[in-house]
Order: sequence, then structure tokens, then C-alpha cells
Amino acid sequence: MSHDRTVDVLIVGAGPAGLALAARLAGAGAGHVEVLEREQDAGGVPRHCHHGGFGGPVRPWLTGPAYARRAVRAAMVAGATVRTGVSATGWAGPLTLETTSPAGLERITARAVVLATGARERPRSARLVPGSRPAGVLTTGELQQAVHLYGQDIGRRAVVVGAEPVVRHAVRTLRRAGAEVVAVVTERPRGTAVPGVPLLTATTVGELRGRGRLSGVVVRHADGRTGILACDTVVFTGDWIPDHELARRGGIAVDRGTRGPAVDASFRTSVPGVFAVGNALHGVERAATAAAEGAAAAAPVLARLAGAPWPEAGPPLVVRAPLLWVTPNRLTDLTDLTALARRPLLLRSGEPLTAPVLTAAQDGRLLWRRRFPVRTAPSRSLRLAPGWTDRVDRSGGPVVLAIG
Ligand SMILES: Cc1cc2nc3c(=O)[nH]c(=O)nc-3n(C[C@H](O)[C@H](O)[C@H](O)COP(=O)(O)OP(=O)(O)OC[C@H]3O[C@@H](n4cnc5c(N)ncnc54)[C@H](O)[C@@H]3O)c2cc1C
Repeated sequence: MSHDRTVDVLIVGAGPAGLALAARLAGAGAGHVEVLEREQDAGGVPRHCHHGGFGGPVRPWLTGPAYARRAVRAAMVAGATVRTGVSATGWAGPLTLETTSPAGLERITARAVVLATGARERPRSARLVPGSRPAGVLTTGELQQAVHLYGQDIGRRAVVVGAEPVVRHAVRTLRRAGAEVVAVVTERPRGTAVPGVPLLTATTVGELRGRGRLSGVVVRHADGRTGILACDTVVFTGDWIPDHELARRGGIAVDRGTRGPAVDASFRTSVPGVFAVGNALHGVERAATAAAEGAAAAAPVLARLAGAPWPEAGPPLVVRAPLLWVTPNRLTDLTDLTALARRPLLLRSGEPLTAPVLTAAQDGRLLWRRRFPVRTAPSRSLRLAPGWTDRVDRSGGPVVLAIG
């Protein structure tokens, strides 16, 4: 039997994005602001990132746990309720979430719901790596939790798979746990070099070997040669996917590029009253970016509480390869420069390009063209300031962003 309650704003996920939003809303007198967190402690991913590098350039750099503690404290001091060990599992109505916790089942109805569920690395199964199912196969997140939160034994010889900067965090955590890192393997032509670790580029992990415990990984090089790297641990890094299950269960439209909820510049999803913020929208960005999105969503959430209408979606914003995704990706209020000032477009290229030219076009009409004096990298997003979006025909076809 479930217990029914109502709150003003229900935020799912107590990471940097959800906590920053909760602090802003509670501080602005939004009523009962409740944050649900399925883990036993609030703070999100930074809780298990024991390196420095969290915060902003104008503030001292903090370790992940210190950053997480500060974010939790700010939300609670502002008056938000942060509940841990509570998972949102589904929807009992458009703005009613079903939750489960050791205290039992609940149905919580809110005037506004915000999804701040974060992102995760795709596990080995989703990467279609064949072979047996031995112990010792982890993502970086699982590795960090095992080492930093639970003090578990990891193994002695490890292979790290991936090309994104998170490779360095995986290597550091493995070394701290006493493991030797025998290689970093990536199928990309360039990878993340780590001193003291051989980097195998243009190389795929073809198979996992071992019964009970991992005994090695079969690697295949671009020229067709294969080899076996003996190891008892393999860590799959990067390749982020927004945690979108709750959004999908609620019938919320998911963007094909980001694979997170499709949102407009005011963080509004396709379901009236439901917002989404942080890495749930786009995979991993810096914690400060996720927190800034959470803080920026406070104004539209407050407007919703004050009775602001939920606008019809305008033309979609889509990308052409090698661009992977753009967010926001609904053009409801792209002509609203106030909303866009809160949040410029964020987009990601799948290929490294030097000083690329970016264009925006609609129905064959060029809306905008600009050269970016930077080198794009698959692990780094570009920020696109507004200023051209008032040229979008709101009754026209999709707006296509291309790069080259
Ligand atoms: C290995 C690693 C190293 C990093 N290093 C840095 C760094 O040095 N500097 C930096 O700025 N950033 C770093 N980041 C990025 C930073 O941690 C993230 O950008 C930030 O945590 C994103 O915040 P978020 O609130 O969007 O998501 P998260 O931090 O992922 O929080 C989402 C929360 O939602 C909860 N949740 C999800 N679904 C449910 C549900 N159904 N019910 C209840 N709770 C739910 C999750 O348990 C989680 O706690 C790193 C990330 C990783 C993985």
C-alpha cells in the first residue's frame, strides 16, 4: 500500500544540478522543494571523485567529496528537503511519481517535477563486447565507488578502455587501489596519454576471456593483428548516456542526438510541468556546467508555479554528422533571448576539427554562419551564443546545424 503526498517541486537526483536548483528554488520561497536521491548519500558523482578539479575558476578547486558536501549543505540551508535512499521508479500520473525506499512505497504529486538524474558510462554489455561474463569488468563510476566508497579489492593488472579524459581518473583510481595498468586501449586514432602506461590507438577490445575472474582481453589492431593482454580487471570508460529511463517511462520525448529528454532553452520537456537539467540532458560535462543549468532552471520553474503557460514546441533543432548532438533541442523559445542568455546552445562534434565553420539552416535558407577559432575534440563541447535564433521561422521545418 503506498502513501500519497503532495509537494510544490519534486527534483529527482541530488547531484550538482538537482542540488543547485533546489538551493535556488528554496531560497526564492518556492514552497516545499523536495529532492530524491536513490543512493545513501546525496551529492551525485562528485562523492566518489577523490581528485581535485571541482568548482569554478574563480573559486578554490575542491575535491569531489568536498564539492558534494558544499552543494548538499547549500540546498539544505536554503530550506530544501533532501531525502536519500529513495528511488523514483515510475509515474502514477503526469506530475505524480512513484517512489520506493526502506520506509515503503509513496506516490508524490508536485506542481513541477524536475529530472536531474545524471548520466552513466555505457557498460560492457551495451558496447557489445563478446566473451564470457567474468568478475573484474567495471565502468569508471563502478571502479570509483568500489575503491572510494566501499574499499573493495580491485585486482592486480588492469586494462582501461576509452579515449576521453576520464581515462586519467580511471588510471589514477586503479593505481591508488594498488593495480598495475598494463594498457589504455582505444579504437580512435588518438587517445588520452597517461605517463607510464602504453597507449594502443586504433585498437578494439575483441573479446573478454576468463571463467569466474577475468584472465585477459583479446585486442584487434587496425591492420588485423590480434593479441591478448593478460589482466584481471578491465575498466570501460566514457561513452556516456543520459540516465533517461524515468523520462521514457513518463512518455517524455527523448532527443535522438543526446538521448536525454528533449528540452527548450527553459529546460521544459514535452510534458507540461516536467523539466530536466544537468547531465541527464547531454552526458558528462563539468560539475559547474551541470550546477549552472540547475540554477538557471529556477526562473522557469518559478514561472510555472506562478501559472505561466507551457508553450507548444516549435521546430526541432537537429545536427548533421560529424556533430553528435545539440542542447537545447526544442525551439519553443529560441526567440526568447532572456532564456537563451541563461543557457547558450551546447553542442558536440564526434571528430576533431581545426577552426571549423558552423552553419544553421532552415528549409534550405542559411540563418547563420561562423568560424570557431578552436580545435574541436570529441570529448569537449562547443558553446554557441544566441543572436541568430530570431531568424528561425517558428512554423518552418527543422533547423539543421552543420560543421565542417
Ligand atoms: C570519473 C569522473 C570524473 C569527473 N571529474 C570531474 C572534475 O574533475 N571536475 C568537474 O567539474 N566535473 C567532473 N566530473 C563531472 C561531474 O561529476 C558531473 O558533471 C556532475 O556530477 C553532473 O551532475 P548531475 O547532477 O547532472 O548528475 P549526477 O552527479 O550524476 O547526479 C545525478 C543523481 O541522480 C540520482 N538518480 C538518478 N536516477 C534516480 C532515480 N530514479 N531516483 C533517485 N535518484 C536518482 C543518482 O543516484 C545521482 O546521485 C567527473 C565525472 C566523472 C564520472
